[in-house]
Amino acid sequence: MNYSDKVIINEVGPRDGLQNEQTFISTEDKVTWINQLSHSGLKYIEITSFVNPNWIPALADAEEVAKKIERVPGVLYAALVPNRQGLERALKANIDEAAIFMSASETHNQKNINKSIDETFSILNKVAKESISAGKSVRGYLSTVFGCPYEGNIRVEEVVKVAEKLFEMGIRELSLGDTIGVSNPTQVQKVLEVLLKRFPSDQLAMHFHDTRGTAMANVLASMNMGITKFDASLGGLGGCPYAPGASGNLATDDLLYMLNGMEVETGIDYKRIISSAQFIQEKMKRPLPSHSLQACH
Ligand code: MG
Repeated sequence: MNYSDKVIINEVGPRDGLQNEQTFISTEDKVTWINQLSHSGLKYIEITSFVNPNWIPALADAEEVAKKIERVPGVLYAALVPNRQGLERALKANIDEAAIFMSASETHNQKNINKSIDETFSILNKVAKESISAGKSVRGYLSTVFGCPYEGNIRVEEVVKVAEKLFEMGIRELSLGDTIGVSNPTQVQKVLEVLLKRFPSDQLAMHFHDTRGTAMANVLASMNMGITKFDASLGGLGGCPYAPGASGNLATDDLLYMLNGMEVETGIDYKRIISSAQFIQEKMKRPLPSHSLQACH
């Protein structure tokens, strides 16, 4: 295998993890937890979401969280932003980066955002432009890249088309999501072969879900293609929104364990990551899906 000796892990647990959980974590506990993460060596933390609080009550305290956390120099504090109203709130709370999102699947986009792909482009374009003119960078999330719960397989040409539009808006990085955790290493290789002809590898991040146990294999396939950026969620927090009880996000602690063993540098302290995974597991009052956490008992 051929892979870079450095990898960047983007921590999405405080947003993507918590938004798919039923348990409400108090603002104080969220702040304590994010502060722990800030001192673990992570350089990117997605701290919350500025979508309408009625949609995601678990993150209704977005402003408070953003204002109360310690801002450690060198760490980028991002938040999910769906539209201009969300951006206005996010800017007031002084986030560093706006993460915009849409789907490569027309049906999934319609069900998730209530808009067609074309309508979403014009909304996100305004968010991206306003964010950049306010001095904040923008990251893009593209979901259902490897399969859609409604449409099944997504043609890679569709992925390229939406990705091009997002890069035209000025995003600095695009996160490619296996939203329902259906991909496998061969598919990952085939999709990346096409995408890497069009976009530089350092502008792409992979967002794998471990719903069927393939996330880590997909990480390795991506690394072998030259990808060096991965989204992960502490403890594997955040179930699959389409299958209650199933695993969602790849666990940061498992990914870090593997990369450490492979002597791939991340700059992240494994012990600190495990102890903050234990902290949030206690608050969730249930065992989290991470293998590393279970092995620590
Ligand atoms: Mg996710």
